[in-house]
Amino acid sequence: GQVDIRGGFKIFDDTIHQAAMRRLELEPALRQALENNQLIMHYQPIVSLENGKIKGYEALVRWQHPEKGIIMPDEFIRLAEETGLIIPLGAWVIHEVCRQVASWQKDKSRDNHLTISVNVSAHQFTEPAFLSVIQSALQKSGVQSTCISLELTETALINNSQQVTEVLDELRRIKVRTSLDDFGTGYCSLNYLHRYPFDTLKIDQSFVRHIDSNPRNQAIVNSTIELAHRLGMQVVAEGIETEAEVETLKQLNCEYGQGWFYGQPALS
Ligand code: C2E
Ligand code: CA
Ligand code: CA
Ligand code: CA
Repeated sequence: GQVDIRGGFKIFDDTIHQAAMRRLELEPALRQALENNQLIMHYQPIVSLENGKIKGYEALVRWQHPEKGIIMPDEFIRLAEETGLIIPLGAWVIHEVCRQVASWQKDKSRDNHLTISVNVSAHQFTEPAFLSVIQSALQKSGVQSTCISLELTETALINNSQQVTEVLDELRRIKVRTSLDDFGTGYCSLNYLHRYPFDTLKIDQSFVRHIDSNPRNQAIVNSTIELAHRLGMQVVAEGIETEAEVETLKQLNCEYGQGWFYGQPALS
């Protein structure tokens, strides 16, 4: 803007302007991306820390833009949430993952007991058709519900707790698994653990990074793992990059891990 009433704000003007421009440009493009099959899924292994065996994969969306190349989800998921595009995008992700799992399962040389984790946004989770999207994707693909785990962050749980409880109950009834993602980064993580039964707790990478040399993170992760186990949950540590981090996590009784040390997200 030209008018700088309070002074000082002008410094930020350009970056805000650039971000706004990028959004204006990206929104119609993202709409088209959905129609033109420009979204692709990458899969990152989740591994047993004990024996290195793959227990499953996390599905992570990417946008293959015809000119800009690969755009990462941090650049477009929020835009999708703010514009409501997350609803069709999220439905596409669920259908695509189920299709992929079914095709892996046809290949008898592969391990067919893998669990594939899918990220679900708050808006998506509390949208009326969410459960029917899940059920139709399972039916269409013939994939068993126990092969799918839905990853939710705390922000997905903040609003509308009655509705969240109903959806989580129904998921439990149809045996779709659930994971509490990015644990420790939200406002009242313990509150959610106590209110909702998740199968898996994923410890955010900010606590895992350099855990071998950071006693404070060790203390936090140690207590988190103990608590999760007492509540009957499995634990996945995210963002593992070194062998030393693996060793420390094993000593803290963490059973699963995910991160560049084990494998980057990649095409199926
Ligand atoms: P997230 O669910 O916490 O996913 C983990 C992120 O950490 C991924 O980033 C992954 O590539 C990255 N990562 C994995 N291991 C390492 C590591 O060792 N070191 C480092 N530095 N990073 C690691 P990505 O793929 O860019 O995804 C970012 C976020 O976008 C995800 O965070 C998730 O919140 C969201 N997202 C991704 N795919 C979807 C989707 O299909 N639907 C929705 N609603 N959100 C998605
Ligand atoms: Ca996740
Ligand atoms: Ca995470
Ligand atoms: Ca994250």
